[in-house]
Amino acid sequence: MDFFEQLKKNVTQAGQTAVDKAKKAADLLKLREQIRQDKREIRDITYRIGKTYISLHKDDYEKEYEKYFTALEKVKEALAEKEKELQKMQEKIRCTECGAEISPSDDYCPKCGAAVAYETELKEEKVLASEEEEDDIEDDFFEDE
Ligand SMILES: [Zn+2]
Repeated sequence: MDFFEQLKKNVTQAGQTAVDKAKKAADLLKLREQIRQDKREIRDITYRIGKTYISLHKDDYEKEYEKYFTALEKVKEALAEKEKELQKMQEKIRCTECGAEISPSDDYCPKCGAAVAYETELKEEKVLASEEEEDDIEDDFFEDE
């Protein structure tokens, strides 16, 4: 084989190796994505099994599940507290006399000086409304998809 023929062969082989490498990298990527997808599906099915168990046995679960139900209740209570806190922080109170925005901690309207006593009633109504929302969350949680 003369020099040029050998060179041509080498170049072709190098090109082939690059193609093989690219293909191998693509296969690897594809396989990794498929593995990720399978794991996601396993997690999803496991979650559905748990959700189904909760909806069927939330009142008569076996004692092996007790810690999970206890933990779930605890987190749900903490969540409800935080949501109530969030609502309180976002709450905007308006003066019943002039309509000016008042901070929940104000006793008197800074604009017109009216007493803010009446607002307490409104606050109680909002707390009741937020408790209804919490019931909705619980219903959603036990609902089948
Ligand atoms: Zn006012």
